[in-house]
Amino acid sequence: MSNLSKTPTSWHIHMPIKTLLRYGDKRLGEIVTHPQGVDGARNELTKMRDEGKEFLVCDSSCDNRNPNGSCAGHQVEEEDA
Ligand SMILES: [Zn+2]
Repeated sequence: MSNLSKTPTSWHIHMPIKTLLRYGDKRLGEIVTHPQGVDGARNELTKMRDEGKEFLVCDSSCDNRNPNGSCAGHQVEEEDA
């Protein structure tokens, strides 16, 4: 009986910055929280876009990102039963 060890990978939700910048205040505010509100969020998104990023990960705990800003995936460790 073969037992392939398959490590499951999970990704954080990430959104295209281009799309986020098109959203109105209400919609953007539902997705991104920023201490300076949606204007602050937009400033930051614009800065990221200017730096060559294409995606925003909607979780600041993400520590594995691609150069374009998207989540590069995380291996989920299987818990011992
Ligand atoms: Zn991630």
